[in-house]
This record gives sequence, structure tokens and C-alpha cells, in this order.
Amino acid sequence: MTSSRKNKEIAVTVIGAGLAGTEAVFQLIRRQIPVRLIEMRPKVNTGAHTTDQFAELVCSNSVGSNLPDRASGLLKEEMRLLGSYFMEVAYKYRVPAGNALAVDRGAFAREITRYLRTHSLIEFINEEAVELPEDGLVIVATGPLTSPALLESLQKRLGKKKLEFFDAVAPLVAADSIDREIAFKGNRYGEPGKGDYLNCPMNKEQYLEFVKALLEAERIDLSDLEKNARKQFFNACQPVEIIAESGVDSLRFGPMKPVGFTDPKTGKRPYAVVQLRQDNLLASLYNMVGFQTNLKHPEQKRVFSMIPGLEKAEFVRLGQMHRNSYINSPELLTPTLQLRSDPRIFFAGQLCGVEGYTESAATGLLAGINAVRIISGKEPVVAPPGTMLGGLINYITFAGHKDFHPMNANFGIFSGEEGAKGDVRKEQIIRQARRQFREFFDQL
Ligand SMILES: Cc1cc2nc3c(=O)[nH]c(=O)nc-3n(C[C@H](O)[C@H](O)[C@H](O)COP(=O)(O)OP(=O)(O)OC[C@H]3O[C@@H](n4cnc5c(N)ncnc54)[C@H](O)[C@@H]3O)c2cc1C
Repeated sequence: MTSSRKNKEIAVTVIGAGLAGTEAVFQLIRRQIPVRLIEMRPKVNTGAHTTDQFAELVCSNSVGSNLPDRASGLLKEEMRLLGSYFMEVAYKYRVPAGNALAVDRGAFAREITRYLRTHSLIEFINEEAVELPEDGLVIVATGPLTSPALLESLQKRLGKKKLEFFDAVAPLVAADSIDREIAFKGNRYGEPGKGDYLNCPMNKEQYLEFVKALLEAERIDLSDLEKNARKQFFNACQPVEIIAESGVDSLRFGPMKPVGFTDPKTGKRPYAVVQLRQDNLLASLYNMVGFQTNLKHPEQKRVFSMIPGLEKAEFVRLGQMHRNSYINSPELLTPTLQLRSDPRIFFAGQLCGVEGYTESAATGLLAGINAVRIISGKEPVVAPPGTMLGGLINYITFAGHKDFHPMNANFGIFSGEEGAKGDVRKEQIIRQARRQFREFFDQL
């Protein structure tokens, strides 16, 4: 083992020196708590990381919007107030990117690595963790590409069905951005009930144009690893563009089947239908049924906005298909990010079911703060559900999901005031978030 520090009383082990892990470590050492940090790279690689640095941004160098009236901007504001290390270094190495916060990824990762690798309170172990330590507090922050050996041991501990390995996600749409003059309620085959789905009808011309655009749209180039994974796991869960390739009518006989519908506007059966299913109890989010896709993100927005009723849709999450390990947090985690079955163990980062760089660091921040509180003899805290941080954690630890997929910061996860829509709703959510955050901050 490569260790940079001789152990004295180490009460916390952090596994994974990515965005969540490094943030958690920082929160501990700034309060003088020694930490053991285990990171496997470069000895064992993930397939996506390309350096031996901590906190590597694996893809884009943008960490999302910096505007205070955007969900990601609001999360950043809360993180800065909580003393986030991720935010401090990101602003230090900021590069011009309009309203987004983009960073010089090399300088960003080098600074974090240099500081943490040489810190006297950190015992660094450059090894793959294959199981969780049996004593002390543990923060597991090994990310979406957690090594297979650790996943296997987590599976044994948590149960086989509590971990997902490959994510096939359809886009999510903000409910108040769906045009209800066009989308009508109803169930396929005219099943009884008041109509659980919203249905976007297409005539023949619209359908043919849509299929053409879908086939011509640019796709994300999957790595070989993901191509193999897709073959193995997604036979029953084909991306829409692949279904469309097998024949012009395939979608009409598959996820866009119009059987059992009458469009109230025309009094006739539509040629094809895109169904939207309520995604959260608040009914603020709808997912596009059967629309898992591998199109590039701007292409998804362009092509799916051709669907009648979705012309002005706000896509709060776009579809994706990639290797993504995450635990079933609604069943397994408390809102303090501790395992219900063993509160000694915290999960943070993408592995706990958030999506995105900033969101991953944000959960590392809360896990770090809570580990400090436990060591100091205090109760761990829950971020209020009206704040962006609390809303996100409430979403991932809330047991009401039928089909849990990782979530990013967005306004759709909040209820908002009865009847409030669009910008009014957003402003009201932001005001509430700031008020609740101030109260939370004062009690820390
Ligand atoms: C291919 C890909 C592209 C992405 N692109 C974006 C993007 O552009 N924008 C965005 O916002 N989000 C993106 N994400 C999602 C997510 O935000 C990032 O993956 C983010 O880095 C997650 O942070 P994390 O701290 O949870 O994990 P990571 O940053 O991946 O950190 C986990 C660390 O744990 C280490 N590790 C894993 N297993 C072990 C083990 N057994 N023992 C010791 N160490 C271990 C890894 O080497 C890694 O350093 C992407 C994800 C993937 C997979």
C-alpha cells in the first residue's frame, strides 16, 4: 500500500477521490479530523478517467449554469455558503463560458490533488477498495464507474437488486411546459380510469417527418464497453432510434402505438401517439414512455420538440444509456446520506443516485459535514427539502419512486405553490429555497 501519512486516530475512511470524495475529505480536514482516503487510480482504471489526478472531470469542462435563477446556479449558491471546496477551486480556475461555470480541468484537478495528497491529516492509500472497512465511519464515493470488485461486495451487503449497473433513461419533461391544448389524457386500449397518461397525437405526415428526423439525428458514440453492455442488457429496452431503424412503422407498432385512443380535437384515432407518464407524486415531472435514447443532447431537444404538445417542452433530464452504478437510495439511504441498515456508512456522489458534477460534489459536502457532526457528538443534519440541496436529497431518498433513476438539480423536483406556473412558480421556489437555507445555515 502507498501511504503518505502514518496513521494516528483515523475515524473516517473516504473511498474514491472523485468530486464527491474530495469534497467530503476537505470538509473533514478543515475541521481538523484525520481521514484515510482510498483511491485506486492509476493502478486500476475506470475506462473513462484518463489521468492519475483526483477530481477529474471525465467529460465536459462545464459544471453547469452559474445563474442564480437556474437550478444548478441555486445549488452552487448553497454550496458556496456551506464552504464547498469544489466551488472554491472551480471559481479559481474558471474559464469564459457565458452563463455557465466552466473550468480549466487540468488546473482544477492538479490543485485539488496537490493539496490533498500532501495534507498532514490525510493518509492516502493508492489501492482498489474491494470491501468496506469494518470499523469507523466510511464515506463511499466511488462514482458511476465503481470498480467491479467493490460493486460485488456492495451487492453482497445490500442485496442483489439494490444496485443498478447500466442506465437506460428516457427524457423527463417539466409538466407545466407540456401544451395541454394538444396533449390529452387517456390510457392505451381505452383502459378504464380517468386517463393516467398524457398523450401527444401525431397525424401521418407528422409521424413520417418525426421518424426521418430521428433517424438522421446525431448519436453519442458509445465506448466498446458500453456497446457490449448494451447488447447484453438492453435487448428488451431498445433506444427509440434503433427501433425506428427496423422499419418506418416499427414505432407505431411499439412505444407509439395509437390503439384505443381518440383525439378529442379530431374525434379520430391518431396515426401515432407519444405517451407521457407522471414521474413524481407532485405531478411536476413526466417521462416519455419507451423513449430511452442515445441521441446527442442537443439533438434530443431538437427532435423531441417536433412532437405535437412538446414544442415548448422543458427537458429537465435528457435520455441516456451508459454504464452507471448507483444504489437504490430510496430504499437504502436516510436523508442524512447514511445507510439505514448501518449508519456508520455514508454514500455520496453519483453512486448515491444524483446526476452531475455539481450534484455529486454537493452530496460529498453533506456527507462530510454529517461525518464531522457524528465525530463531534452531534446529530447529523437533513437539508430542508425546500432548498436545492435538500430537494435533491429528498428526491433520491424518497421511497415513492417506482423506477428510480439518478436525478440532477432542477425545479421539477419541488411542488411549488398551488396553481403557480412557469416563471412565477420558479421565483416562488427560489424564494422558499433561500428562506429555508438561511434557517438551516443558522442552526449548523
Ligand atoms: C462517461 C461519463 C461522462 C460524464 N460526463 C458528465 C458531464 O459532462 N457533466 C456532468 O455534470 N456529469 C457527467 N457525468 C456524471 C458525473 O457527474 C460524473 O461521473 C462525476 O464525476 C461523478 O462524481 P463522483 O464523485 O460520484 O465520481 P467520480 O468523480 O467518478 O469519482 C469516483 C472515484 O472513485 C474511484 N474508485 C472507483 N472504484 C474504486 C474502488 N473500488 N476503490 C478505490 N477507488 C475507486 C475512481 O477512480 C474515481 O476517482 C459523467 C459520467 C460518466 C460515466
